[in-house]
Amino acid sequence: MLIQNVAIIGAGTMGNGIAHVFAQYGFAVTLVDVQDQQLEKAIQTIAKNLDRQVSKGSITEAIKTQTLQNITTVNTVATGVATADLVVEAATENSELKLKIFQQIDEAAPLAAILATNTSSISITKIAAATKRPDKVIGMHFMNPVPVMKLVEVINGYATTADTTHTIVELSKQLGKIPSVVNDYPGFIANKVLMPMINEAIYSLYEGIADIESIDTIMKLGMGHPMGPLQLADFIGLDICLSIMQVLYQGYGNPKYAPCPLLVNMVTAGKLGVKSGEGFYTYTPGSKAWVVSSNFNK
Ligand code: NAD
Repeated sequence: MLIQNVAIIGAGTMGNGIAHVFAQYGFAVTLVDVQDQQLEKAIQTIAKNLDRQVSKGSITEAIKTQTLQNITTVNTVATGVATADLVVEAATENSELKLKIFQQIDEAAPLAAILATNTSSISITKIAAATKRPDKVIGMHFMNPVPVMKLVEVINGYATTADTTHTIVELSKQLGKIPSVVNDYPGFIANKVLMPMINEAIYSLYEGIADIESIDTIMKLGMGHPMGPLQLADFIGLDICLSIMQVLYQGYGNPKYAPCPLLVNMVTAGKLGVKSGEGFYTYTPGSKAWVVSSNFNK
């Protein structure tokens, strides 16, 4: 199937990155968000990121201009998807909200359109069941930051057809990405493997086996990870980590996925990591500088 018009639902962190990449590779992009302010911010972020690519010499000024021209913004889902060949949903991670958005998309998008979701943890099969075209619903899980990260985790729902998967795999390659295809089970692969590692690092701290810096240093220097698991958890958001552990725990019914009580306590106390200014480390607003959290108390 030929994909030319792409609608992206949600203009937040992931939506602006996904719009950026599709537009840079010549697709006509309609970026949709219910908040006009988010749309304005997304275009500013895309322009700033394109400037960085120009200054590094990875794209020309002409490509930057063309990329921005390839993006249109609208604030209603029905208008945004009306002529789409592909919809990529990247709205807030909330199951009820996504089911509602997929019903709206299904009603308004052309019958042949493929409907993809960038969800980190919600079942593709469940989202597909909210539509009348479950064969054309698929997970297209980009990584953050989208213009930089090469992986697209392509997730087959129970009813996704081989044709749909093939289209999304080839399309991901066209975007300069490397697709990996997995089946729809809780956490898919990326989070089923990553989150228990982060949870285990939090358990190690909770059990007093080592301090924050030691845990992160061991995993960085010993395993060649660019960031330690506790620092990574701060960057992802501790609330997101907790909600993915809950999805794994409920989905597999296996106690090995039980979220660490320290993680639960920190989220309850509003210590969410970078976005709240404090998690395992403390962050200065507007700066990437961090220090080991001084009032850390399990
Ligand atoms: P975000 O909070 O930055 O952005 C979500 C956007 O969705 C907001 O701009 C919000 O206004 C918009 N939105 C809410 N309801 C909407 C509606 N009905 N119609 C249109 N827009 C609506 O979230 P994010 O971090 O960009 O995450 C988006 C999705 O990507 C989630 O499913 C998340 O799990 C997934 N994801 C996130 C990351 C990450 O690192 N942030 C990585 C991979 C996948």
